[in-house]
Amino acid sequence: GKKLADLHFTNRLYKSAPFLFAKVNPTALSNPKLLHVNTQMLHRLGLDESMIGNPSFLRFLNGDLDFEGLFFGASFYSGHQFGHYVPRLGDGRAITIAEIKNDYNEHFELQLKGSGLTPFSRMGDGKAVVRSSIREYLASAHMKALSIPTTEALAIITGADDVYREEVEKSSIVLRVAESFLRFGHFQYFAHTNQLEELKTLVEFAIENYFSAYKDHPNRYVLFFQDIVKRTAKLFAGWQSVGFCHGVLNTDNMSILGLTLDYGPYGFINHFDQDHVCNHSDHEGRYSLGNQPSIGMWNLQMLGIALESLIPEVDRKRTLETYPQIFLVEYRRLLLEKCGLYKQQAEDEDFLRTMLNMLVFTELDYTQFFRGLSRYEKDSKKIAGIETPENLINWLDSYDARLNLEETTQADRHAKMLLVNPKFILRNYLAQMAIDDLSLVPKMYEVMTNPFTEWSEVEEWAAPAPLKYRNLSVSCSS
Ligand code: AMP
Ligand code: MG
Ligand code: MG
Repeated sequence: GKKLADLHFTNRLYKSAPFLFAKVNPTALSNPKLLHVNTQMLHRLGLDESMIGNPSFLRFLNGDLDFEGLFFGASFYSGHQFGHYVPRLGDGRAITIAEIKNDYNEHFELQLKGSGLTPFSRMGDGKAVVRSSIREYLASAHMKALSIPTTEALAIITGADDVYREEVEKSSIVLRVAESFLRFGHFQYFAHTNQLEELKTLVEFAIENYFSAYKDHPNRYVLFFQDIVKRTAKLFAGWQSVGFCHGVLNTDNMSILGLTLDYGPYGFINHFDQDHVCNHSDHEGRYSLGNQPSIGMWNLQMLGIALESLIPEVDRKRTLETYPQIFLVEYRRLLLEKCGLYKQQAEDEDFLRTMLNMLVFTELDYTQFFRGLSRYEKDSKKIAGIETPENLINWLDSYDARLNLEETTQADRHAKMLLVNPKFILRNYLAQMAIDDLSLVPKMYEVMTNPFTEWSEVEEWAAPAPLKYRNLSVSCSS
């Protein structure tokens, strides 16, 4: 395997848009310990397992190693937080250390989260606690396994330093990985400070490197915006389909690549409830499950405004108008797929609305319902392991009718459904169990990165929270 210094450092963003970054020195954790490594990511980066016991790997993850090719930069961005524009945010505790290219021409930006103060830390300490780092580390890997676009991570380390939140906690760093961490807020920052040349450079850079299919197209700015609208609509449809609430959908937490970005007080629902608010600090429910899709649209509108010097209003408007339809088509497709239905019908919308209403009314566990449905025998009016109240039995009548129209065999349908309806979902209490007992992290990671597998030895992890964890609440504190 390669040594760290042998990686192919490209640092394209840093070279093309140095104005985006302030140089910083990471603060290393004291007594760092490796908590977990994503070995798949290790391989994708071109490294191998021999890295894991290597002291320089730990120093690298701790931001305590500097060599040719690395740069340490925190980026400028702004954004709308809970609807209000904040002119200067920036990477307050994330430090980009490099972009590399693997042998397959895939690019990865590497970022340390929790490496101490940057010029953008404002009132914060630039640190991250073990609790929030584990939540991010597990959730990003889990999202990937659910086929929902997301930033990822290479590893998580813990330190001995005290970090002050509501109570004293311990420090941690996650090395995050994504093709790009560019956010809506980066573009907003340069638009609002009237640095229009820099804005244009950034847009050209993004098109050239992440949307290269139309890099020479005369209408590339419009195509760029269309692409972001499309990716965002699909991302949000993916979230809704698995019952994921992001929690802090500020424009600075929106990726231009349509990735799930910034895992804070996120949560997966138990029963289907559009009013579910996962972030304890979101008193108005701005970012409730049901509001997410329209928040996606609102955030895109703000991005559109930031791009007004490059894209005529009529094109921005037309592009934004495509969002609801792209979202709905994708959401419908994902829900039908969860039901094992592959033939579209004129009644799809009614059928799915009835199903969701039934799920609201019966308060059946969302994840367990679909997993159970994966083994449903047509006309049996029973789903193994799930109580069957009258509303469900009624809905099963219409489901049976739909199944009659399908051409797949029952066995084939079951097999397909088991691959899209996870048995395990990263419920808050499961993340909390791993936080409370770090020895559970490897198993939790294994299960959450293979959530469609049965894992009979931890069968109980498929269930909603036991009593002890019922009142768990999560907030922005991290
Ligand atoms: P978030 O709510 O996680 O999206 O963060 C919003 C802003 O606060 C971003 O500019 C973050 O970099 C910054 N921030 C969050 N936590 C900290 C912290 N502990 N120290 C410094 N900055 C932080
Ligand atoms: Mg953020
Ligand atoms: Mg955050």
